Amino acid sequence: TVRTRVAPSPTGDPHVGTAYIALFNLAFARQHGGQFLLRIEDTDQVRSTPESEQAILDSLRWLGMDWDEGPDVGGDYGPYRQSERRAIYEEHVQKLLDSGKAFKCYRTAEELDALRQLKQESGNQTALKVSDLALPEDEVNEREAAGAPYVVRMNVPEEGVCVVKDMLRGEIELDWAQVDAQILMKSDGMPTYHLANVVDDHLMAITHVIRGEEWISSAPKHKLLYEYFGWDMPELCHMPLLRNPDKSKLSKRKNPTSIMFYERMGFMPEAVLNYLGRMGWSMPDESEKFSRDEMFGNFDINRVSLGGPVFDVEKLRWLNSLWLRELSPEQFVEKFAQWGFRPENVLPLVPHVQPRVEVFSDVAPLAGHFLSGMTPLTPESFEHKVLDAEATTNILQMGLWQLEAIRHWEKENIEQALFGLAKQMDVKIRDFLYPFFIAIAGTSSTISVLDTMALLGPDMSRARVRHAVD
Ligand code: ATP
Ligand code: GLU
Repeated sequence: TVRTRVAPSPTGDPHVGTAYIALFNLAFARQHGGQFLLRIEDTDQVRSTPESEQAILDSLRWLGMDWDEGPDVGGDYGPYRQSERRAIYEEHVQKLLDSGKAFKCYRTAEELDALRQLKQESGNQTALKVSDLALPEDEVNEREAAGAPYVVRMNVPEEGVCVVKDMLRGEIELDWAQVDAQILMKSDGMPTYHLANVVDDHLMAITHVIRGEEWISSAPKHKLLYEYFGWDMPELCHMPLLRNPDKSKLSKRKNPTSIMFYERMGFMPEAVLNYLGRMGWSMPDESEKFSRDEMFGNFDINRVSLGGPVFDVEKLRWLNSLWLRELSPEQFVEKFAQWGFRPENVLPLVPHVQPRVEVFSDVAPLAGHFLSGMTPLTPESFEHKVLDAEATTNILQMGLWQLEAIRHWEKENIEQALFGLAKQMDVKIRDFLYPFFIAIAGTSSTISVLDTMALLGPDMSRARVRHAVD
């Protein structure tokens, strides 16, 4: 039976790219009457968070996707969270060490830098090989005896060509010379993506790996690992990456990439899923609007075209309008109410709103911007007693750069970033925040703009500030 998976890393907001890849894996499994599973790749202990994992699961569910196995639903091939599978990886790394396919590498960070530098200066290819990394035996023994930290690396051929088969591209040739002696296990005993991914795909009986194009360059390492373990490799299918309308890789600097943004903007999940299904794929009759089940009923991975699919929010709005027009008045009310009163969006607002209102009809004027998308703005909106138009634009643009750099979207971090900038620009906090109030809420007589941004989330906040700058 066909078994596919999506394997997100819980290191941030749920990405539309993750949903796109999940959808194609799901469609492929359903088309073949197979199974689709969700695996959490949380080996990066520093960047992975339980909140991000939960948000990924919630977002995929919101879109109407379901998985047969996963961390929340269980299954026969678990655990489905890599952080819970350490013993399995250790055992497999040991096998590779025993068979001489991998080696312990005691090189320090400084030595590695020096080695890379040397390679570069000699005009040689830059990948680091066993021959570069090897230390004299007594040196190895000495470091081992001293308990020095080490990583485990895999042996990789010094030269020659690796041929990998891709379902969409046929045979791809990659030069071994470009592939370094990949780290399989870090010095903290955690596996790297490559080891964990291959071991899990095998143990979870995955038959088809459908993933983003950015992983093509990893395919030779994976192929070699399958060979080292003596396992059959699943079929590989690398999907074209989503693009911004200007054809660059979809990035949060130009486009909101979090599924949560689209939920907050009031898109219908059916429409977002429909749009993702049109990324590089089309129905046999080229119809633009189709449901999940219509897609699955007509799915054929060979219809995926490799030209980079453009994720265009304007196009998505248009498609959403088609879905919205079809609702009966009763359905419209029901869906609108569900969206507007999602407890997880509304509850956090209450502590800010309840103390400031006397009757319910005060709520909308105070907090209406929590229910809207982009704030309607004119240059006059920003008029201010000390800031002229140029100063306002400067503050918003520099502020946007600060906001884009925030990793953990929390009030304290937003405050720190913006207050730091205000100080640097030598503008009083009160004045400095004014343009942000206007950009985010349309008015300065409302609840704290820092709280508001924290509650609206990074994509919605940045999108509004960007909208104000443009
Ligand atoms: P940034 O927005 O800063 O460029 P990123 O897009 O690389 O970050 P990641 O957190 O690295 O974001 O990616 C999250 C997930 O989304 C990964 O599984 C990645 O494969 C997928 N992804 C990211 N960008 C795209 C894209 N353009 N098309 C398809 N999938 C993508
Ligand atoms: N954890 C990887 C990601 O975040 C999975 C890549 C793969 O599917 O092999 O995209």
